[in-house]
Amino acid sequence: MTKSFMPQLNNMEQLLDHQLKGLKWTVNHAYNGSKFYKAQFDNAGVKPEDIKSLNDLSKLAFTTGKDLKEGYPLPLLSVPEKDVVRIHASSGTTGKRKVLSYTQKDLDVWFDMFARCYEMAGLTKEDRVQIAVGYGVWTAGMGFQLGCEKLGAMAIPVGPGNIDMQCQFLVDLQPTVFCCTASMALLMAEEVNKRGIKDKINLKKIILGSERCSTAMRIKIKELLGLEDMFDIVGMTELYGPGTGLDCNKHEGIHYWADQYILEILNPETLEPVEDGEIGEMVVTTLSKEAAPLIRYRTRDLTRKHTKQCSCGNVLPLHDKIMGRSDDMIILRGVNIYPGQIDEVLSNIDEVGSEYQLHLERKDDGKDYMTIKSEIKDGFSLKNAQNIVNTIKRKVKTKIMVSCGVEICEYGQLPRVAGKSQRIFDNRD
Ligand code: ZN
Repeated sequence: MTKSFMPQLNNMEQLLDHQLKGLKWTVNHAYNGSKFYKAQFDNAGVKPEDIKSLNDLSKLAFTTGKDLKEGYPLPLLSVPEKDVVRIHASSGTTGKRKVLSYTQKDLDVWFDMFARCYEMAGLTKEDRVQIAVGYGVWTAGMGFQLGCEKLGAMAIPVGPGNIDMQCQFLVDLQPTVFCCTASMALLMAEEVNKRGIKDKINLKKIILGSERCSTAMRIKIKELLGLEDMFDIVGMTELYGPGTGLDCNKHEGIHYWADQYILEILNPETLEPVEDGEIGEMVVTTLSKEAAPLIRYRTRDLTRKHTKQCSCGNVLPLHDKIMGRSDDMIILRGVNIYPGQIDEVLSNIDEVGSEYQLHLERKDDGKDYMTIKSEIKDGFSLKNAQNIVNTIKRKVKTKIMVSCGVEICEYGQLPRVAGKSQRIFDNRD
């Protein structure tokens, strides 16, 4: 029988007990091991022994990306340097990278978490996993690779690109699982069909990392490759790397490994907890990380927690998909709006395409106004435009609680760029 990587926890009470133990260990460890954390605690007037319940977490100061960069090259280090067995770094584009250090125990925990992702996706030792993500100083390749070996499945570490080798191995080595980004998955799906090798391959599942994938794209990839299922894996370098959560085959949300970190969802403006089920910034606190523990680390990623347990029965809680960055938040007439919310509303309307822009202006009456510019979907006609405009206005009003103007244009009219499109045009003072 394959070993299980699921935590031995039967209910929420046991999980919370486990979290409190981990939190107490972490605050002691960080306070005693790191000058940075000791100063943070001292500034906040808190001692490790003040943390007696999970509610006491709110007494602790936040840690940010800035702290990581300022601590370069080995930020947050809470163990002697000789105990560090590896570093990884973020693929940051500006300034100093975020470098994170790991003890052997940190690596073991990470790969156990990753093996758990594979287990949740239904993989066993029998599976063969072709890994088409980047290997190097960043965490992706190592996570997928060593998690796979931990599970006991066969890893085929091809790395990204290299389409000829990918296709050859798909046929010759008969992998059952493929790991990549969403755009790579679409590329491979099209390539397999173009080369006429669909009947010669044995792919059953794809595990997608790090990139958002629309429902339409997901369906297309699944159909082109004849897959059983596709899964989203989450993670970030600061928090070990990829492998800290995965959506199960019910696809009701992403199970996150709450036995290894506490997830708070906070309003990025006030830093107070949001109401149950509301969108806010993910703030994480690790429970056993040794070399670079995180205490209330502000990830800037936005999501919401699900309040209900997943119908699969697993006690590990769910969060929603990542809905953008808190830096992109707009405040309109006192309401916090995230572009991800607009995205979500638009993607649930059949006739509307995926490109959109948000224009904000302050009119003579002193009030702020938002106009959504959106394209009609390819193949649809503008004849019905007024109905679509009304639908968008109504859905934005009910889902996001703001009124807006809507302009709808032909498919292809909004600009496309290779990188990240500018979607927010804030013309207020
Ligand atoms: Zn589930």
